[in-house]
Amino acid sequence: MTDLANTVILITGASSGIGEATARELAAAGAKVMIGARRTDRLEALAWELGENVAWARLDVTDRDSFAAFVAAAEARFGRVDVLVNNAGVMPLSPLAALLVDQWDWMIDVNVRGVLNGIAAVLPRFAARGSGHVVNVASTAAYRVFPGAAVYCGTKYAVRAITDGLRMEHTNLRATTISPAATESELAHTITDPGAQEAVAAFRNAGMLGPDAIARAIRFAIAQPAEVDVSEIIVRPTASNMS
Ligand code: NDP
Repeated sequence: MTDLANTVILITGASSGIGEATARELAAAGAKVMIGARRTDRLEALAWELGENVAWARLDVTDRDSFAAFVAAAEARFGRVDVLVNNAGVMPLSPLAALLVDQWDWMIDVNVRGVLNGIAAVLPRFAARGSGHVVNVASTAAYRVFPGAAVYCGTKYAVRAITDGLRMEHTNLRATTISPAATESELAHTITDPGAQEAVAAFRNAGMLGPDAIARAIRFAIAQPAEVDVSEIIVRPTASNMS
């Protein structure tokens, strides 16, 4: 694996869960890390804890201008951008018949438009330079649909498709889909539908990964030599590996 000491890595959704764990993992590997999310108090505390190679900026991935400013802030601080980890996501699950249409829109805005906004913000730079890496966090829900998760699964299938397309269109850029199974985080906190809350609790009780397991997978993909594209990684807990 290559040394990450001179690699500038942007992580979205780094205020909790997988994004926070990834910031810790990559900072420990010596990378220069720019973390973004909306809860800036958490970002500030994390950056303070991790030291001078970690900087933070407020980011709303649904807002194209916010993403452009995030990338510009990283360049101003570290001089370049090598890797974007599109990790931010939301999962307010519900059956379609509940018609929680605002929550459908929210998932599409964050999970799909957010990823596209990130790609739009870095792709011109990466393409002009002829190098760069986009790591998109999808899910095992990008491979299999669950009742009550139709829209969420749809967004994650889309993330997988977009990542594949990005890789195929650019033979000098790297693109990686990281697909975790159930992982300890705050992801389920936004579920308001009681049936979905119950189903997810049962699913998650069957076995969960720590977010550090996903962070290590992301580090593995980034740390490969430039000529190696780790296209997809699926990570499941050994004790609950059916999903
Ligand atoms: P968390 O809820 O702990 O983290 C989600 C992160 O996304 C937070 O940092 C949140 O920050 C950020 N976020 C949400 N909306 C926005 C926005 N509009 N702009 C910027 N940041 C935003 O959950 P996880 O760590 O689990 O989720 C990370 C990714 O992993 C998601 O894409 C999720 O779908 C995926 N995943 C998670 C699994 C799990 O079981 N935990 C399994 C499979 C995939 P803030 O609110 O401060 O903006």
